[in-house]
Amino acid sequence: MSLSPVFYARQLRHELKLTGAVDLSLVADRMNIKIFEEALDAEGYLIQKGKEARIIINNNIGYETRKCFTIAHELGHFYMPHHQESIFRCLARDIQSYCSDRKLEYEANEFAGEFLLPAQELEKRLLQPPNLDMIKEFSKIYGTSLTATAVKVVQLTCEKIAVVLSESGEIKWFRKSESFPYWINKGPLHEWTYAYDFFTAGKSLPETPQKVQAMAWCQGVSREELIFEESMAFPNLNIVMTLLYIPYEEEFDAFY
Ligand SMILES: [Zn+2]
Repeated sequence: MSLSPVFYARQLRHELKLTGAVDLSLVADRMNIKIFEEALDAEGYLIQKGKEARIIINNNIGYETRKCFTIAHELGHFYMPHHQESIFRCLARDIQSYCSDRKLEYEANEFAGEFLLPAQELEKRLLQPPNLDMIKEFSKIYGTSLTATAVKVVQLTCEKIAVVLSESGEIKWFRKSESFPYWINKGPLHEWTYAYDFFTAGKSLPETPQKVQAMAWCQGVSREELIFEESMAFPNLNIVMTLLYIPYEEEFDAFY
């Protein structure tokens, strides 16, 4: 029987006596793993031969936060005892989507999410319902990408919130909190969303959460229902990250 990736990530942090942001090159040194950057046909590799272990990451990864997540993902393959292959070849679509349907890839992402952003520390900082400013602040503290940070926050919060990633006008993936009651439409963005306006008309996105009709984002909702959309663009990547919130009833008018 294997334990959860979150358990293993916590165990490794505990063994190495880590708090706060992680220095991955130091961690790799202490675990006797060498890290290389090379031209690759994948996002990253973990290669183990006898007692030697190497992590190789693609040298075309432009963002430091993305490199860190990939290294932490490979550390997960190395550390979790039931990940026994001697070579793991990890693709960008599995690492970046946070919802890979390949079990070991999904587990390595969960490991990386907890190793870089420990729930017990984050929970102490989650004193208000999450918003983009809070996610930006956490990502700065822990050196993690905004999407990885948003995914972690959504996993932890008791608020009704979801993070949605759209690329070139299409919803690629979403993660929702346990209490968020709806499924989100994948595929082309609805024209009533602010994210749609960004992709189609190049409009800049509002800097505060905006009320929109929930049916523009979610399945199975009535026409009258409203939801808050807070979207942020990454123009170089042609990506928009959106937080969707449903305030609890008593908060709806007073909250924002
Ligand atoms: Zn992997």
